[in-house]
Parts: sequence; structure tokens; C-alpha cells
Amino acid sequence: MINKSTQELINKGEMLPLMEEFYTIQGEGFHSGKAAYFIRIGGCDVGCHWCDVKESWNADLHPPTKTDTIVENVKKYAKTVVVTGGEPLMWNLDYITNTLQNNNIKTHIETSGAYTLSGKWDWICLSPKKTKLPLETIYQKANELKIIIVNKNDFKFAEEQASKVTGNCELYLQPEWSKREVMIPFIVDYVMKNPQWKISLQTHKYLNIP
Ligand code: SF4
Repeated sequence: MINKSTQELINKGEMLPLMEEFYTIQGEGFHSGKAAYFIRIGGCDVGCHWCDVKESWNADLHPPTKTDTIVENVKKYAKTVVVTGGEPLMWNLDYITNTLQNNNIKTHIETSGAYTLSGKWDWICLSPKKTKLPLETIYQKANELKIIIVNKNDFKFAEEQASKVTGNCELYLQPEWSKREVMIPFIVDYVMKNPQWKISLQTHKYLNIP
């Protein structure tokens, strides 16, 4: 049970339910291959059946952690942070992004967009999910749209979602990991016919890093 003063700090974003933090290589999307410090915040109710971080879903399992402590850890390692989850926008991210940017650290987020955008971001990767669609307001702010391809119906979903972002938004199709062998040939074919899209692979899994 979280006490009142801790809850107030969480509401202000001065504490966050941290699941894990680690310095690694961004494996996916536009910034694939670049070193970054990952901050994984607990809590998600989007409910993707193929989710590979289901242990993130229950925020109560992840201890409220002082945001200043997280930022101090980042400063030891990296100039770029990726805030991910879970669904990180379930929390107020204004404080952490302000503090990171004040320390000249770039702020990137990976989000389903299902909650109100908080925080100041250098890069927004929007990965919409059919189970809980993004709020309309985030589409125009996305730098990158990443659609997970589980089956062939997802190409239609990808186009519907792409119609809502700006012309500058980078478009990616990424095979869901357990379906990759079946779906990669369809994605390759689709991207060759629709070259506004690019392929994103979970290269960290091929590299065997977190
Ligand atoms: S939005 Fe992300 S964390 Fe949440 S269920 Fe889907 S894949 Fe998992």
C-alpha cells in the first residue's frame, strides 16, 4: 500500500514505479544500433496477447523510485534515454524529462499513445495497439510510427494508423517476435511494394542483449 506522501510524489512525477533500468543498444526502429539508457516503468493495461514484458503490467509490483536517483544513474552512462514500459504515459513524465534535458540528455519514449502525453521529448515512437488505440492528439507529435505485424490484417491497421501521422513521421513495420519467420516474407514484400514503410527488427534479441 502506497502512503499519501509517496502518492503525491508519484503524481508529480518525482517518483516512478521503476521496473528496471539498463544501458544497452536500442534494437528497434529509427534509432536502432545506437547506445541508450533504458528506463522501464511498470504498469500497462493495453493487454497485447503477445506482450514480451507481461511482468510489467502490474505497477504495484514495481517499487516507487525517486526520479532524481534514476537521473543520477543515467548520467553515469548515457546521453540518450529511452523511456519505455509497460505504458509509460500512465505516469506524469514532466519531471523526469525536464531533469534529463537540463542535463543535456536526449529523451526518447516508446508508447502505445493510449494515455495523455506528458513530458518533453526529443523523439516519440508511437506504437499503436488495436486493444487500446492512441488518443487522437498524439498522432501529429509522433516522430516514428511502429506497427507490430502479427498477421496479415495488421497491414490494413498499419495504413489506417499511418493516415493519422504527419508526412515527416518515419514508418516502420516490425514482425512480432514469435511470428517472425512466418511474417517476415510478407513484410519484405509489402515494403518493396510500399516503400514509404521500412522494416524494424528486434535486433537486440538477435544480439542477445537486453
Ligand atoms: S502496450 Fe507494450 S507493455 Fe503494454 S501489453 Fe502491449 S506490448 Fe505489452
